Amino acid sequence: MKIVKKPDRILRQELNKIEILPDNIVEIVLAMQKTMVKAEGIGLAANQVNLNHQIFIIDENLAKENNVPWVYINPQITNFSKEKALLEEGCLSIPGLYTEVPRSKKIMIKGIDQNGQKFKFKARGFLARVLQHEFDHLQGKLISDYVKKN
Ligand code: ZN
Repeated sequence: MKIVKKPDRILRQELNKIEILPDNIVEIVLAMQKTMVKAEGIGLAANQVNLNHQIFIIDENLAKENNVPWVYINPQITNFSKEKALLEEGCLSIPGLYTEVPRSKKIMIKGIDQNGQKFKFKARGFLARVLQHEFDHLQGKLISDYVKKN
């Protein structure tokens, strides 16, 4: 898979919910993972590889350390803490841009994994940040939207 870069329009699309998991969903997420690892990313959303459905993945080690899924299908963040933290982020679709992004310190997220298993959990800290970054992609939002315009 090839990583789509800004200003490709698909990065601005709100992606479609998956009604029925396709038979090749495991192949899709494994191909996404291969692409992400090669690019040294820690997360990748479907529109970053030119797919228009609500799927993102995160680094497998980050997932394991936190005992959470690495595949997120139709994810919804059902709660964002009011308390936010600022940290510099980059994005595989915007090479060279590193910008501070405010993110909720804690979130509640739910979705399904590549086997159709539902999940729901609380995330905090760095994991919560990565999940919010990838979730933004599915809404057509990019870190460049957080750059302060003076
Ligand atoms: Zn990104």
